[in-house]
Amino acid sequence: MLQFIKDKIRTVPNWPKPGIMFRDITTLLNDAESFKQTIDLLVERYKNMAIDKVAGIESRGFIIGSVLAYKLGVGFVPIRKKGKLPADVISQEYALEYGTDKIEIHADAFLPGAKILLVDDLIATGGTATAAGNLIKKLHGDVVESCFIVDLPDLGGTKKLETAGYKTFSLVEFSGE
Ligand code: AMP
Repeated sequence: MLQFIKDKIRTVPNWPKPGIMFRDITTLLNDAESFKQTIDLLVERYKNMAIDKVAGIESRGFIIGSVLAYKLGVGFVPIRKKGKLPADVISQEYALEYGTDKIEIHADAFLPGAKILLVDDLIATGGTATAAGNLIKKLHGDVVESCFIVDLPDLGGTKKLETAGYKTFSLVEFSGE
């Protein structure tokens, strides 16, 4: 089943710039069966973990995260690029290859102590997910796990997240391919 899911992910070489192998999940989402199997596997994993909210990282984390929240019967929290959320926010800066960026969460997104499942489509260097985890911690949420469809272990993101104290789970990985 995992090989079926992996085979549905399209690799676009040299996009958005030379040297990057872009792992495109739109082909997985486009296929009803692989989309369903992906969500079903994640629902199985998390349905008994007493999750209070699913937090998805903009923008592909919204697609997976919102369906997962619906299936788990819990609310969805968007974590967005700076300047997009309308109410009071808290922000977290993180390093990019050149310079820095910021992500934000609504300050009233959940109550202190809430059990949060963090979701994105892919983990590469782990910079984005670590920043998202830190936002949740700033609001005194408990990050139950960070979950991804794809891990790129060669880029060290999972190790970085785990070192920062976040449990991490990915369905498939692309390593040395
Ligand atoms: P990072 O902060 O380096 O872990 O990057 C993670 C974010 O960048 C995720 O939201 C991914 O959607 C996107 N991303 C980074 N590298 C790739 C890649 N090779 N293919 C597809 N998406 C990527």
